[in-house]
This record gives sequence, structure tokens and C-alpha cells, in this order.
Amino acid sequence: MTDPLAGFFAPWGVFAGILVLHLVLPARRVTGYARDERSGDVLRYRLNGPRVFLFTVGLWFAAGTSGVMPWDWLWQHRWSGAVGALTLGLVVSAAVVVTAPATGKGLLRDLYLGRRVNPQPFGGHADAKMFLYLAGALLLELNLLSFAAHHLLTWPDDPSPGIVLYVVLFTWFVCDYLVFERVHLYTYDFVAERLGFKLVWGCLCWYPYFYGVGLWSVADLPNPQTPGWLLVLAAALFFAGWTLSRGSNLQKFAFKRNPERAFLGLRPRTLGDGERRLLVSGFWGLSRHVNYLGEILMATGLALALGWPWMLGPWLYPLYYVALLLPRERDDDRRCAAKYGPLWEEYRERVRWRIVPWVY
Ligand code: NDP
Repeated sequence: MTDPLAGFFAPWGVFAGILVLHLVLPARRVTGYARDERSGDVLRYRLNGPRVFLFTVGLWFAAGTSGVMPWDWLWQHRWSGAVGALTLGLVVSAAVVVTAPATGKGLLRDLYLGRRVNPQPFGGHADAKMFLYLAGALLLELNLLSFAAHHLLTWPDDPSPGIVLYVVLFTWFVCDYLVFERVHLYTYDFVAERLGFKLVWGCLCWYPYFYGVGLWSVADLPNPQTPGWLLVLAAALFFAGWTLSRGSNLQKFAFKRNPERAFLGLRPRTLGDGERRLLVSGFWGLSRHVNYLGEILMATGLALALGWPWMLGPWLYPLYYVALLLPRERDDDRRCAAKYGPLWEEYRERVRWRIVPWVY
């Protein structure tokens, strides 16, 4: 097999391995938030992200230390790997869509946004969306480790501390997602999205290959001699963003599970119409999507950590978040206005800002 061919199929092999690990490793069984379209029952899930992470990264380390695979193999094969992931993403998206009944909104729309909502194959042993997020997150982690290894191997005498910081922060981001997998069952993706190109290709190609675009752009370059204060600022921005994002997600998760329960010692303040309630305290009183601000701050911290503030490559990641989350906030606002009616109007008046308090 030629090297490009090996690179092309590498993501296919990684995803197959992750699927096997996900299916065979012990998992906790939890009740989610989204409902089965046909029965109306709340869906149940098997979650074992942290275990699959440890096994996958452990195997990568074992392959590197034993010499079976160069540490920077995924870096060397990054272009063919990205093409392989792109192709697989297209094939799987098309297969998932064309084998499901049409929504009646047109084939192109179905291909992009999908038809099935929450399929749970393997007799319910796996959930398609949970698996896709897991697969994307883990291949992203392997790419980050391999790209950073390439930098360390190329510049062994003077590596960039910013690259080490970037990988540590991004690994935090990936692990945080896996540790709080259950909280994500309560998000837009599970409630409102279907499985089409956007979600499937997004998880199999975009997530593992684009999210690390900053490191992809600079791993080959020498140490930029980033001043210590800029690295501290980068880490501070990242953790400020993480606090907003994780804090707000956890607060909403706690509220949806038990609307009376205190979060971080504070009782929830709410708006209600006698039937439904919306949070107006804590993170949800700052702006209507302060979690999106958190994501953008985290991405900005990651871009700064790399230490090339004048290069475009590292900024593509935070720019992507702005392009993704601004329209998503509008979409969610429309969805909530339709769902909650006058209660949502009241919430808009009470919490005036969309994303950035006192600015937007
Ligand atoms: P949210 O977590 O903000 O969820 C929005 C939903 O929450 C609404 O549709 C509504 O649903 C409910 N809701 C909104 N306001 C309130 C309120 N005041 N009180 C109670 N419930 C409320 O958005 P997402 O699902 O889009 O995002 C989830 C997380 O994922 C975020 O942190 C986001 O930043 C992150 N994310 C990360 C991405 C990445 O690539 N890293 C990409 C996109 C998102 P309901 O009908 O259930 O009430």
C-alpha cells in the first residue's frame, strides 16, 4: 500500500477502531432529553467517552514508543488523511440520508440537514450522534498530538512552549466534552438536528481536521519566542471562556433535571407561564447565549497560545465559531420564540443581550 493510500484510509481505520472500543468497553446507561420520534419515549444512551479516550490515546502512545508508527505519522499523512475523512464523510452522509424516508422538503435540503433524528443502531447499543461526536473528538486529539510531535521532532533544541500550551488546552477541551457527555444530550444537536451532511460530515471530517487548523499552520515553524504574558493571557482567555460555556451548560442541565435545585449554591430565578419555565439567573441572566461567547473566547485563547498573532491560520478557528454561532443563535431564538411564545418575548425583554452582555 502506498503512503497516500495509507493516509487516505487512516481515518476510516481510526473510526472503525473507535466504534469497536465504544461498543465493547463498559458504559454507563443514562436517560437523555430528546424523545424517540415514533414512540415519544425519552431516549436512553450508553456513554463511555473517557474510557474510549484513554484506550485510543494509550494505543497511540504504545505505537509511538514501540516504533510501530512514527510519532508524527498523522502529520505526515495529514493531506491524504483529510481527503480520506472528507470522502468517508460524504459517503456516510449520503448513505444515512438516502436510506431514510424523505421529509418532503426537497432532496438537497435532506442531504444537507438530514432525515433521521436520533438513530440508535446495534440494537440501541450505540447512538449515531454520540458516536459521531466521540469519533470526531478522538481523531482531533490524535491529530493534535501528532502535529505537536512533528514540531518537537523538527525543533528539538528550541520547541515552542506555545504549542505545548495549545495542545494542553485543546486536550482539556476534548476531555471536558467527554467527561460531560451527558450534559450534551440536552443541547440543540440532539433536540433539533437531523443526521445529514452538516452533522455527519461535520463530525467525521471538519471536526478532526479543521479544528486543529491553527497547529496545522504553525507546527512546521520555529519557536516564535512568545512572551510569557501572552501565554498567560491566552490561558486566561481560554479558561474564562470555559467557565462561561461549561458553567452555563451545567446550570441549564441542572435546571432541566430539577427546576428547584440550587446551582453553585444559588436558587434558580425563573420566568414562567404556569406550564413552562425559563432561567433568568446566573449565566442565563447575563445574555441569552453566553455559552456561545465562552466558545469564542476559548477559541481565541487557543489561537493566541500558538504565538503567531499576525498569521491568518490560527485565527480561522475563532472566526469559524463566529460564523457558526451567530446564525445558530438566531435559529435557536426563532425556535424558542415558536416553542415558548409570549414567555420568550418576556425573556428577551428581561435578558436583553443575545451573546455578549452589554455589547450584542
Ligand atoms: P444551548 O445550550 O444554548 O441550548 C439552547 C436551548 O436551551 C434552547 O433551544 C432551549 O431549549 C433552552 N434554553 C434557552 N434558554 C433557556 C433558558 N433561559 N432557560 C432554560 N432553557 C433555555 O445551545 P446549543 O445546544 O447550541 O449549544 C450547546 C453547547 O454546545 C454550547 O455550550 C455551545 O457553545 C456548544 N457548541 C459547541 C460547538 C463546538 O463545535 N465546540 C458547536 C456548537 C455549540 P428547550 O426547548 O429545551 O428549552
